[in-house]
Amino acid sequence: MTHSAFELKDTREIPLLGILAETYEHRKTGASHYHLCADNSENAFMVAFRTVPKDSTGVAHILEHTALCGSERFPVRDPFFLMVRRSLNTFMNAFTGSDYTGYPFATQNRKDFYNLLGVYLDAVFFPTLDPLDFAQEGHRMEFENADDTQSSLTYKGVVFNEMKGEMSSPISTLYEELSSALFQENTYHFNSGGDPAEIPNLTHDQLVDFHRSHYHPSNAMFLTFGDIPANELQARFESMALHRFERSPRTVQVDLEMRLRKPVHKRARYAIPEEEETDAKTHVVLAWLLGENTDLDMLMKCRLLADVLLSTSASPLRRALETTELASAPSPLCGLESQEREMSFVCGVEGTDLQHVGAIEDLILSTLQQVADEGVPQPQLAACLHQIELHQREVGGDGYPYGLQLLLTCLPGAIHRGDPVSLLEMDHVLAGLRHEIEDPSFIPSLIRELLLENNHRVTLTMEPDTGLHEEKNAREHAVLSAIQADLSDREAEDIVVSARYLRERQETEHDLSLLPSVGLQDVELAKAPPEPSRREKGLTVFRTGTNGLVYHQVVSPLPRLTAKQWPLLPIFTTLLPEIGSAERGYLETQHLQHLNTGGLSAFTTFRADVRSPDQVRAAFTVGSRALVNNLSNMLTLVSETRSQPNFHERQRIRELIRQLRTRREASLTEAGHDLAMTAAAAAIRPVPMLMYQLVGFQGIKLLKELDDGLSDDANLDQLIETLREINSSIQTTGCQQLGICDAASENDVISALSSIDHVTVDDSITVLKSSESPFQDWRAGASDQAWLTSTQVNFCASVFPTVAESHKDGAALAVLAGVLRNGFLHGALREKGGAYGGGATHDAANGVFRFYSYRDPNLMKSFDAFEDSIKWLEHQPPSFEQVEESILGLVSGVDAPGSPAGECRQAFVQTLYGRDAEHRALQRDRLLSVTQDDVIRVSATYLKGIPRRAVLTSERHVAELSSSFSTFSV
Ligand SMILES: [Zn+2]
Repeated sequence: MTHSAFELKDTREIPLLGILAETYEHRKTGASHYHLCADNSENAFMVAFRTVPKDSTGVAHILEHTALCGSERFPVRDPFFLMVRRSLNTFMNAFTGSDYTGYPFATQNRKDFYNLLGVYLDAVFFPTLDPLDFAQEGHRMEFENADDTQSSLTYKGVVFNEMKGEMSSPISTLYEELSSALFQENTYHFNSGGDPAEIPNLTHDQLVDFHRSHYHPSNAMFLTFGDIPANELQARFESMALHRFERSPRTVQVDLEMRLRKPVHKRARYAIPEEEETDAKTHVVLAWLLGENTDLDMLMKCRLLADVLLSTSASPLRRALETTELASAPSPLCGLESQEREMSFVCGVEGTDLQHVGAIEDLILSTLQQVADEGVPQPQLAACLHQIELHQREVGGDGYPYGLQLLLTCLPGAIHRGDPVSLLEMDHVLAGLRHEIEDPSFIPSLIRELLLENNHRVTLTMEPDTGLHEEKNAREHAVLSAIQADLSDREAEDIVVSARYLRERQETEHDLSLLPSVGLQDVELAKAPPEPSRREKGLTVFRTGTNGLVYHQVVSPLPRLTAKQWPLLPIFTTLLPEIGSAERGYLETQHLQHLNTGGLSAFTTFRADVRSPDQVRAAFTVGSRALVNNLSNMLTLVSETRSQPNFHERQRIRELIRQLRTRREASLTEAGHDLAMTAAAAAIRPVPMLMYQLVGFQGIKLLKELDDGLSDDANLDQLIETLREINSSIQTTGCQQLGICDAASENDVISALSSIDHVTVDDSITVLKSSESPFQDWRAGASDQAWLTSTQVNFCASVFPTVAESHKDGAALAVLAGVLRNGFLHGALREKGGAYGGGATHDAANGVFRFYSYRDPNLMKSFDAFEDSIKWLEHQPPSFEQVEESILGLVSGVDAPGSPAGECRQAFVQTLYGRDAEHRALQRDRLLSVTQDDVIRVSATYLKGIPRRAVLTSERHVAELSSSFSTFSV
């Protein structure tokens, strides 16, 4: 059924995904609506606009933030964040890409869906765009002491700080530098998020203009998924927004880039700390501009080409980049960029030096030439097509709502006016490719045409610079000093007054009655978790909608390890699926994985006991997934990986450790708040202690030392010996098997899993007590820790011990965290403090209450804010609505669906760790019955005494730390 304001343009059934895809156009404005009709009650929505900035002031990004700060029908200060709390959403966000801005949400509750739809539509089409919100979200000048015109001027603003954090990451800097070199003319030349040096140039008028020209229905795409009929949705689009617009004559689009006549070279710099060595820290990447992503045939060819060259360690180009002595690892940018209008292929390395640039370029070009001359063996091509098919079939939904994943898959097609629906089902294109690869010259000619003979190529060299941070700070300081020197008294006073206005506005109470909401009465009954269709000793099988895939895990109790073995456990699990097995080398093993499976993984899991957070349950798992016709090959590979790993290839092991180190170091500024919370909690609970030692600050530090020592052969021998010991102890344990599949393959899966005869069955799990290895003396660590790295922003964490997961107060503590976050911390840390994020959470499994800030310009001020939030609650008991909001947020998190296979895996793991269905149902009931008094009581009971604190910061901020902090370098 179509609403009269819309015209149905196309209908297509996609049986593989169980959806009917409908394409509509709004008659008057030309707005497009893509509806994926599915029998799924988790409805997803997104409205997106093409946004093509012509500078790096971050206009699109700041508009994305400011649009969410109040609108015509909802003139409250912060409707987006208020709705996050007054809703049962399973996803709410907004993001700015390089050529679009999107506002998506998902929820399982119909009333909630329409509440959110109303707020989203009003926000994007009729935002207030108040200058004070622009100042808060974008940028503003304030005196260091806001009322003192003699103190120095500084820049503030949420996006300003967010981008300072983002551009502290070497990889983000590399990406921006590469885009600006590859595209000289169109919008991709600019940093759509905003360059902190240019953000202050943006004016409020420019922001309003950008909104008028870009957020128009004629430039809008509506994308929806779920069981609400299209005409019902369209009736709302029409009445809430579209009827007020005429068609806009303006066409917003990304222009095609003028092609280069010959390849170019570019040099750039990125910041590292002053005291750090600059050796072997240069990045070198090559990029080629390819064809348009709306050409599906070209898109598929490019995907195949990138896969053939780069997908595994056995692929020719990745192999060359992994094994070269010229650099430490392949660049994280390696691969195909297919979201932008013209696609690009990128490859290169990190961890090298300037003098190797020529040799690296030669290595890449000669490898491509060699593949073009010799061709690619048929089995390798088949393996790549197999991967594409597997990914097409897989039903997602873990981490991201499934419907939203499908909408995001369609989005590039909608943005560039291609065929979005076809992006969901490429079977016909795949069939064509399968035929084409039979011609041995197919890949060689693609390599020649798209890469070797393509002159639109850029070689980017990005060198580390120990003075760059200081240089940027000095430049910012100089700009501000010059402005300050020229300020009249009147102008200086204006700055003081604006700061006061903003503060007053931030402190005014919200008029919540203007916003729609759902309440506890709208919470639906909990869905029962999936039950296994077969459960016997050593074997658990679930039947669910997997679309022809089989998921498999082998789980064993973690063996007792020695003090020498413990720190190497994460290295062991990382290496296991990446090295050879069953007497094969790693190249052949990688090829077999690629041909038969969706990849193998090995990992350890640690969870505190439900009744005692001081006891740790630990297991070791190897898992994989495959199309059902590859079932037995997958089982063989998993078994060989587990029981016959091959530690002979010394060079491979060194390369993998080097790559792991590079990855972990890069994670510092992405996950700084997690690492800081773990470090703070390490002195009070064993699971965080383990995480801190294995993958936290301490683990990263050890990994660096280990990697540095491996140039000495004796150290490498020692390492390999210890890895072999870990492997031998794993061989002494038994294991259990998990299988997840659809009804059609269930019998085959059961018989295959029951007939694995060379393993001993063991359903148990290891229990480690805090008195035994690896925990000796673990409480002796420093109470306040400051870890130093290269970052312009801080990540603060402060923690208190609470109760075991089974304790009844756990629910009230979780609700308390939400009350503090919504009622106090969001305002103090983000709105006033300028941090990108921050709040409080209760880590129920470990019994730890945690405060944190993320990408934070402040340091001790944020620790003060954590303490102030506790006092705030003492003086101002929470309202019923505040408690209700917090409960709703928690319950929608608990109830959020995963993928069909993910939900089964989750049920299995929870049960394994002593959290059966009954326990989870009890936890949910307790959440729903938390009262205001409970919240006040648990705050007074548990948030007292001196918290443990940790922060990730930089040398520059050390002087601000209180004397209780000990400093460490990562
Ligand atoms: Zn942002």
